[in-house]
Amino acid sequence: MTRPYLGNPKYTIEVLQKYDFAFQKRFGQNFLIDTHVLEKIIAASEITKDDFVLEIGPGIGTMTQYLAEAAREVVAVEIDHTLIPILGDTLKDWDNVTIINDDVLKVDIRRLAIEKNGGKPIKVVANLPYYITTPIIMGLFENQVPIDSITIMVQKEVADRMQVGPGTKDYGALSLAVQYYAKPQIVANVPPNCFMPRPKVGSAVIRLERYEQPPVEVKDEKLMFRIIRASFNQRRKTLVNGLKNSQELSYTKEEIEQVLENCGVPLNIRGEALSLETFASISNGFYEIRR
Ligand code: SAM
Repeated sequence: MTRPYLGNPKYTIEVLQKYDFAFQKRFGQNFLIDTHVLEKIIAASEITKDDFVLEIGPGIGTMTQYLAEAAREVVAVEIDHTLIPILGDTLKDWDNVTIINDDVLKVDIRRLAIEKNGGKPIKVVANLPYYITTPIIMGLFENQVPIDSITIMVQKEVADRMQVGPGTKDYGALSLAVQYYAKPQIVANVPPNCFMPRPKVGSAVIRLERYEQPPVEVKDEKLMFRIIRASFNQRRKTLVNGLKNSQELSYTKEEIEQVLENCGVPLNIRGEALSLETFASISNGFYEIRR
């Protein structure tokens, strides 16, 4: 046996048959069966023997084997309890892997990073369950988890949304949030035949390299993200109307118009045309009038 050995479809099928494993659609289970893609993910994540890695959703442990070979220590969080005995088997040759059987959204990852890595930035690698991609990524960024980089497989369309700029149809709150915290880079496009079972849509691996300092200066981050959400909640409305109608904000039309004018933003513009820099300056303007 060469290590790691999973990723070869032959072994994946063997393991699935041995345990009579039933795929659970509700957990977004599409297992990787392509060694080239696995190698690309590992290379893009730039893991070294000094690194602590968090894997989200190890499945039967395919990528976990590669991570365990490359890293100092791996913790993998898997929600599906039927996979736990399988992981005990497929990962038995590695002594630097711990499996946590839980919903990753309920795990205190900040504490984990402190306990396992002395609070130093950790690397996160995952073939993400698509149904919770956004809450996972936003949770990692917003909850002050010390992150070095996140290298993840997501739906192609979601990867595109993370890296596009203003004026494109995919641009939205996710693009701005990701680009505030990290530098996104699509590493590979991955077709459905690299998974078992095959998903209906294409996927992509994207690497998010966390900035030490965000690229714009923001006086109140929470306020900026409330403004961003309000601007995209009603995409077809003007920014002024989006902000006025928001349940999360309580500015008058006059206040909104005053801030936009001070920032040199036309009153008939839509949120989708504004850059991160402009959202930062608008939110700093609102911060000033109610400080
Ligand atoms: N990493 C494996 C691979 O690449 O073959 C499996 C990837 S599969 C797309 C997603 C995995 O995440 C599944 O094993 C699924 O059970 C797990 N999962 C789904 N929701 C989860 C959650 N909330 N917390 C932790 N794991 C979850």
